Amino acid sequence: MTDDDLDPSAARPLSSARSDVGRVRSVNEDTALARYPLYVVADGMGGHERGDRASRTAIETLDALVPADAEVTPAVLLDAVRAANTAVRELRDPVTGALSGTTITGLAVVRAETGATHWMVFNVGDSRVYRWNGRTLSQLTVDHSVVQELVDAGHITQLEAEHHPDRNTITRALGAADEVEIDAWLLPYAGAQTFLVCSDGVTKELGMFDLEKLLSGHADPDRGLADSIVQAALDAGGRDNVTAIVVESGEFVDAAMFSTEKRDRAFELDDTHPRSPL
Ligand code: MG
Repeated sequence: MTDDDLDPSAARPLSSARSDVGRVRSVNEDTALARYPLYVVADGMGGHERGDRASRTAIETLDALVPADAEVTPAVLLDAVRAANTAVRELRDPVTGALSGTTITGLAVVRAETGATHWMVFNVGDSRVYRWNGRTLSQLTVDHSVVQELVDAGHITQLEAEHHPDRNTITRALGAADEVEIDAWLLPYAGAQTFLVCSDGVTKELGMFDLEKLLSGHADPDRGLADSIVQAALDAGGRDNVTAIVVESGEFVDAAMFSTEKRDRAFELDDTHPRSPL
């Protein structure tokens, strides 16, 4: 079989997406885009309209530079993220000089120079991409956050990270500096794969087990799994903006239906912010 036989357009992934302001906030600072070949979430910060504009500007830049309906090269995708960084930098308030910032996290179908097709996962900030294989959920991205650094250094556990006073401080964001360092991973584009792209409004309300149960369940076919996940995060409190994209390629993994459970945790309003104030 040659690469020409593996025409990704012959079996494009199915996707569902939902973004919700949540139960506490008045502005949705998250923005999402889900259309072949790009599936991406941005979670803006900087307060009120600044975060809102930052995430929207980042996604609009990617939408303009990553054409719909065709795979792009990895270089085109990474250049689009860098252009989004520049566009967010340009939102600087001319009077106060205040910067806007946003996370940018997602995946795209890319075609390497060899002609081989891959999934490319990319991340700046603390939104996340997970892979679901029908039985286990794996987090593919690594948060750019103070608590992740503390976990990596062995100073605190993952459980302690959830309650740490710096849990909302991120160490990388679009808009924070002229140059942006982008984490990226290439995965084979083959077989049945399901990915979840989400903002921290999902992961602060729902644990891995909750997400696994939701991804195993039967979604309303008209609304999709992303809707079920966002609804569950809202039912669990919805203290932040809540955004999810579910991308399913290849054979759909069917499993028994599970009900969702509310998490019984008390939260205060959590604001994500960069390590150096924007
Ligand atoms: Mg958030």
